[in-house]
Amino acid sequence: MTAQPAPSRPATTPPPPRWCRECGGPFYAWRNDMEFCSATHRAAYHKRRYKWGGLLYDMVIAWRVDRVFKGLSKMTQLADQIANEERARRKRHAEVKSQQERKP
Ligand SMILES: [Zn+2]
Repeated sequence: MTAQPAPSRPATTPPPPRWCRECGGPFYAWRNDMEFCSATHRAAYHKRRYKWGGLLYDMVIAWRVDRVFKGLSKMTQLADQIANEERARRKRHAEVKSQQERKP
C-alpha cells in the first residue's frame, strides 16, 4: 500500500476568508496566526478581556480574602453579564457570517 499525497489547492485559488473575533466580519490573513480584521478590533477585544478579568479578579479577592458578604453571588452576576454579552456577540457574528456567505 502506497501513501497517497494529500490533495492540495491549486496555487491560483485564494485561501478562504477568516472571521474576525471582534466584529465577526471576514478578512484575508497574511499571517497564519491572525484572528482579527484590524489592529483596532484586536485592541478592542483584548481591552474588553482585561476589563472583565480585572473586575473578576477584584471580586475574587473581595470574596475570598476580604470575606465580602454575598461576594460569590456578586461574582456570579458579573459572570452572567459577561456570558450574556458573549452570547449576543456570537449571535451577531453568526448573522454577519450568514449574510456574507449569501452574497454572490
Ligand atoms: Zn473585525
